[in-house]
Amino acid sequence: MNKADSERIAGLLADMGGNSVDLPEEADVVLLNTCSVRDHAEQRVYGKLGQLKKHKAARPGMKIGVCGCMAQKEGEALLLRAPYVDLVVGPDNLHRIPELLHGDSGRVAVAEGELPDELPVRRENDLHAWVTVIRGCNNFCSYCIVPYVRGRERSRPAGIIVDEIKALAGDGCKEVTLLGQNVNSYGKNLADDCDFAALLERVNDIDGIDRIRFATSHPKDMSDRLIRAVADLPKVCEQIHLPVQAGDDDTLKRMGRGYTVSDYRKLVDKVRAAVPDVILSTDVIAGFPGETEAAFQGTMKLFRDIRYDQAYMFHYSPRTGTRAASLEDQIPPEVRKRRLAELIELQNDVTCQINAAAVGKVEEVLIDRDNPADAGGMMGRTRGGKTVAVKTTGSDSRGRLIKVSLRQAHLWGFVGEPFEVLCSSR
Ligand code: SAH
Ligand code: SF4
Repeated sequence: MNKADSERIAGLLADMGGNSVDLPEEADVVLLNTCSVRDHAEQRVYGKLGQLKKHKAARPGMKIGVCGCMAQKEGEALLLRAPYVDLVVGPDNLHRIPELLHGDSGRVAVAEGELPDELPVRRENDLHAWVTVIRGCNNFCSYCIVPYVRGRERSRPAGIIVDEIKALAGDGCKEVTLLGQNVNSYGKNLADDCDFAALLERVNDIDGIDRIRFATSHPKDMSDRLIRAVADLPKVCEQIHLPVQAGDDDTLKRMGRGYTVSDYRKLVDKVRAAVPDVILSTDVIAGFPGETEAAFQGTMKLFRDIRYDQAYMFHYSPRTGTRAASLEDQIPPEVRKRRLAELIELQNDVTCQINAAAVGKVEEVLIDRDNPADAGGMMGRTRGGKTVAVKTTGSDSRGRLIKVSLRQAHLWGFVGEPFEVLCSSR
């Protein structure tokens, strides 16, 4: 979501005539796009702001801005802590960046509102686009700040999304990732009868788009229709991000997730039965308040049993204003960190094993960039979203789908060789 917003911010600045520079000390404008999901992210922003303050002292006229969720959460208070900041812009007010930069309308834009559909975007990679389909979240998981900073669920009308993706395809984009905090809620506030599975069908029909991905699916709302759509629609990649958060029923209850471990396991079984080669990833939090050692071992066991391809793993970070922050029995930071380290070690092992077992397979890879570590080599992704460094393809292969034989496995992905080249040289 933040990457999508950063591309909009870059688009707005480019529209104002801005060019990017390599170093912040060379810039006239530095905007930090921020996250407030965990405290660590916020502390890093304050660290960065301290450095920028020094650059600004040496470069009068430089403008410093803080955008995104932390801007929304802190508002004016951010200016008290960092008075040298020129603008504070929440995620639904990004379109106001130009006027704030011109100094016409104060320094803080965090009012409730809707981001206009027509914003300029400067994409990091022209072959891929992030497309927001639903903003905000209604779930209020007890640990999470997102509903407070991104507001309630609002789906974008399907027609607007489809037109946007048609235009992207016209510009050469091959792959879209449909975004929402919970894409499974898509369509609930819309007049027309289009749920997320129906939206996927419509996007699947757009000429020029080769691959469709989406994130995130809340396990409690994952419908059979959506599972069928992933299984049946040819362009929808066999990749599902299904955040579990914990492998213990009491913990899940205190988190307010709305499912049990057994519900989750059944859902994974159903997904794997319908989409046999599905690449499965998750999010998990270690050391949630009240998590006993036995409860944590439940999470470890779930990870051993499910064998995710990949996991985003965090230790619990109390967020002021959320219910979990005032729960009794907060777990000491060193215990949270130790549990997280155990999970990471387990998951890294599993990822390596899964990747090693895939060596020898032939995968369809969308070649999308040069390989900075290998002159002449290219990089791309499998349908499951795994990174592949491909030898012996030239940069003319960029944007092409090629069959690649996976030769070496790593934690980050694979090194492979184009299958056609291998075949013709045999
Ligand atoms: N909407 C998505 C995720 C949003 S935030 C979902 O529901 O899955 C991304 C991830 O950050 C969450 O899945 C969770 O694992 C983690 N997270 C959120 N709040 C957190 C907190 N207070 N401490 C630690 N991790 C947190
Ligand atoms: Fe946060 Fe839960 Fe909403 Fe995800 S579903 S954004 S974790 S409140």
